[in-house]
Amino acid sequence: MSEIRVRFAPSPTGYLHIGGLRTALYNYLFAKRNGGKFVLRIEDTDQTRFVEGAIENLIHSLEWAGIKYDEGVFIEDGHIVERGEYGPYVQSKRLPIYRKYVDELLEKGHAYYCFCSKDRLEAVREEQKIKGMVPKYDGFCRNIPLEDARKRVAAGEEHVVRLKLPYNRDIHFHDLVRGDITINTNDIDDQVLLKSDGYPTYHMAVVVDDQLMGITHIVRGEEWLPSTPKHIYLYEAFGWEKPTYVHLPTVLNKERKKLSKRHGDVSVDDFRTKGYLPEGLVNYLALVGWSPEDNEEILSMEDMVERFSFERVSKTGGIFDKDKLDWVNGHYIRSKSVEEISALSVPYLVEAGFIDDVFVNENEEWLNILIDTVREGMSTLSELPEKVDFIFKDKLQIEEEAYAEHLENENAKVLMQAIKAELEKIDMIDMEYAKGFMKLIQGATGIKGKNLFMPVRVALTGSVHGPELVNVLYLLGKDRIISRADAILNR
Ligand code: GLU
Repeated sequence: MSEIRVRFAPSPTGYLHIGGLRTALYNYLFAKRNGGKFVLRIEDTDQTRFVEGAIENLIHSLEWAGIKYDEGVFIEDGHIVERGEYGPYVQSKRLPIYRKYVDELLEKGHAYYCFCSKDRLEAVREEQKIKGMVPKYDGFCRNIPLEDARKRVAAGEEHVVRLKLPYNRDIHFHDLVRGDITINTNDIDDQVLLKSDGYPTYHMAVVVDDQLMGITHIVRGEEWLPSTPKHIYLYEAFGWEKPTYVHLPTVLNKERKKLSKRHGDVSVDDFRTKGYLPEGLVNYLALVGWSPEDNEEILSMEDMVERFSFERVSKTGGIFDKDKLDWVNGHYIRSKSVEEISALSVPYLVEAGFIDDVFVNENEEWLNILIDTVREGMSTLSELPEKVDFIFKDKLQIEEEAYAEHLENENAKVLMQAIKAELEKIDMIDMEYAKGFMKLIQGATGIKGKNLFMPVRVALTGSVHGPELVNVLYLLGKDRIISRADAILNR
């Protein structure tokens, strides 16, 4: 069998949608699993939708996610470059190639020039709507002899080129996820292949490129399923062997609607700034529409490559469940090394105004302990400022109920006095000292157990729940602890 080659072919119209990232991921996993090649091609034939910077954003998003490709478009020293034997990989650089194949179709009678004006097409569509028909080109220019059409083109008449589909013919194909599919040509439009601006449409370009780039498997979103018969017909018209099709179920929200910008986050950038780790997002996304045979849910990229197959991709839409994503992401926040999480966390703390770059450089160890202390209950890095707020606050908010229960009594006053007295004896709190601190207070006051720990915890953190007290003592340090003890004594 020839080498497996797949491609991800986004249009540079803005950001990378989370559904697009999953398509790229499945392409990547399939290529890796089968020792094949993965190509990144840019489909920019619709120049009206081109967005400046979108190609760079796509490449950076894939890179962040850890999805590597072998050929296509890359960024090197800040510039877009191409690598591979099948270039150019940007469609707008391939216009002469498409023109050649459009001419071949015209020559063979599989395509025709169409001179219909926008107004005429509009009127036809209106009439069809009134009659309750599916709007479709009515074939007005189908039978203009090629010679006549060429003369009109030479005379400068505005035109497009359309696919000439035979009437009433069943087109069959097999999809690895959806099974056997048959569509009759009567239900398909005579698709425009070449637009009046000289650019091919997506349908023309995608078939020519997939063929010339040796693509063996077309793995894409199911929104392209209705277009596939047109593509199949083109392969047949050219006499090319058609590739294998794999249409992936749409990523849906819990209401079973398409994920849209209006209903929350959809771009890879959104998730990245929310503090999702690439490992967490990619791991979870793989499970939206696919599951491994052993139903394992925490999977590294290598684990996924080992297990991936299209047989286990579901036909029905994959539901994007944010709670599940949070759970998976939380796993990675806890399991990665504290140094790594700490480095990723710093920008969130700087942004929240808790620390600055100078502080970061001088307090690496302290920061590592801070992150390690609070990461247990976290799902995303953006939750961090809220989690560490109690450490940095000058004036701690104490939960009313906790205050009434644990601090409004003589016992608490005795503890606060003892804490102050002990701390006056030292310069600073290190980890060793923090570990023995509560024993010191117990020795000085004779108070122990819940009566010792709860008032201290509430006075220092504002709450009865919270992280390891030893770490909290170390993180707060001498001056903050004294000022919190004073706040209780003077209340
Ligand atoms: N350019 C299309 C898109 O933006 C790619 C469709 C395909 O993979 O054939 O989704």
